[in-house]
Amino acid sequence: MVRPVDAAQAVDGHVVCARCGTVADGDTAPPTWLCSVEDGRRLHFCDDCARLHIRAIESCLDSLWW
Ligand SMILES: [Zn+2]
Repeated sequence: MVRPVDAAQAVDGHVVCARCGTVADGDTAPPTWLCSVEDGRRLHFCDDCARLHIRAIESCLDSLWW
């Protein structure tokens, strides 16, 4: 199990996938990205990660349990 990188924060103003570290183009998350708030932190997940883990997300599982 890979722990999510502590990359929840934007890097240089870019949105970064909290799971795989993909950096979004521009300074806002693309509409295909998923936004999740966990422990008061806003996390973004790229479309690939969102698709893979949509069930876990909908089950309100914290991403640390993925
Ligand atoms: Zn990702």
